[in-house]
Amino acid sequence: MSSISEAGVVTSVGKELFIGGKWVPATDGKTFPVLDPSTGEALCEVADASPADGVSALDAAVAAQADWANVAPRERGEILRRAYELLIKRADELALLMTLEMGKPLAESKGEITYAAEFFRWFAEEAVRIDGGYAVAPNGSGRFLVTKQPVGPCLLITPWNFPMAMGTRKIGPAVAAGCTMVIKPAAQTPLSMLALAAILAEAGLPEGVLNVLTTSDSGGVMEPLIRDGRARKLSFTGSTGVGRKLLEQCADKVLRTSMELGGNAPFLVFEDADLDAAIDGAMTAKMRNIGEACTAANRFYVQRGIVDEFSRRLTERMEALPMGRGTEEGVVVGPLIDEAAVEKVSGLVADATERGARVLTGGSTVDGPGNFYQATVLTDVPKDARLASEEIFGPVAPITPFDSEDEAIAAANDTEFGLVSYVYTSDLKRALRVSERLEAGMIGLNQGLVSNPAAPFGGIKQSGLGREGGSVGIDEFLETKYIAVAL
Ligand code: NAP
Repeated sequence: MSSISEAGVVTSVGKELFIGGKWVPATDGKTFPVLDPSTGEALCEVADASPADGVSALDAAVAAQADWANVAPRERGEILRRAYELLIKRADELALLMTLEMGKPLAESKGEITYAAEFFRWFAEEAVRIDGGYAVAPNGSGRFLVTKQPVGPCLLITPWNFPMAMGTRKIGPAVAAGCTMVIKPAAQTPLSMLALAAILAEAGLPEGVLNVLTTSDSGGVMEPLIRDGRARKLSFTGSTGVGRKLLEQCADKVLRTSMELGGNAPFLVFEDADLDAAIDGAMTAKMRNIGEACTAANRFYVQRGIVDEFSRRLTERMEALPMGRGTEEGVVVGPLIDEAAVEKVSGLVADATERGARVLTGGSTVDGPGNFYQATVLTDVPKDARLASEEIFGPVAPITPFDSEDEAIAAANDTEFGLVSYVYTSDLKRALRVSERLEAGMIGLNQGLVSNPAAPFGGIKQSGLGREGGSVGIDEFLETKYIAVAL
């Protein structure tokens, strides 16, 4: 672990807005506090952007767009590559910063820094692979030229649960494609994004390409920018409810959109599964990020013949998890992001138990300070329990038995969401059959973690539009232009 102190790491980060390559206070001088969710205490204050600051940030992005689009793809890639190296070099400090503002255990924060950095490495490589085409028209008399160009200035909005990686997953392809941008991190976790902006500047990103707005008034600042008409794209990661609202706003000026929204992942375990692997996968899929992940297993469907053994073993593993402040050695269960999150999880568990679910472990809040909720396993969870249809976003594993494959698939698909589904089975035919029938953008097949910068991440149904990462990730920031050539 780095020798840098908690206070030192917070002090080292810029707390102002980053606009046009300069650190500037909010025009009206306002700030808002960033809280440590494990103590409830303020870590520091950051600039609170007003709508006027938002317009300044968009002005800077618009002014930088034409020159940035002309920077050689190799140079754009090399900036990302240098930023990747800086992130890896400073992983310990950045992880500590993330744990302080978001709560996740240090080991997970460090994992996120590596994951976040990998998006820069991946898109550094993709920047030089933007392709085009040359073809003979079917009638033989003309030619088709096809080229790809940056979409233009982009608006990026990211959530608090992965404060760094959700940023690099957008900034990486935008930089690689030649787009400028205004990014707005969640008010609860602005520090990681501010640290990232400083790293990108150090890596050589020209002024105005990346502009960062921290604000306590996300709607008030972002809506005018969406409706302004000069930004050509919105890339959003967050809840489905906010995503719907933003899609409506984007309709006004017909902005391109990428939407990475909520999930409600089913986790299916068949009797022929390797149970050791299924338990390991369940722990990863449930407890990564304290359950506060869009990919978190939200509903466990376990075939009746193994449901008791699965429940017992999962309970043993959940009971053994050390809880505490994320900075403490060995902690696995950190605090939830805020009091409202604890209340939501408590309400969902209370609703499930009132409808007949049994608590195998956990099921309670923990006395403060901090926003802690016990790692919890529920069994015999009825279909109509609210947590079967709502994102739990906490350390609660609800288990429901099933008898047949058809029944499991029907239950899994009975949701408006379609981000990821997990399947555990040793039967290859079943594995492929079930994977094809599950309505999700991603399947974890005998695997509890699907996220990988080199793979296309995204959902179907109300979990979103578009994909981030993989070879398609850069396309979200490119327009295809066709040039009809007369010979
Ligand atoms: P959220 O409330 O939707 O907020 C996400 C971002 O949108 C934050 O920066 C938030 O800023 C901002 N925001 C909220 N209202 C806005 C508005 N009216 N106009 C413009 N911006 C607005 O979601 P969250 O609670 O932070 O994050 C959790 C959600 O994100 C979950 O549903 C999770 O599944 C989803 N998520 C999805 C993915 C994915 O890849 N599919 C990845 C991670 C998380 P403020 O918070 O500062 O208001």
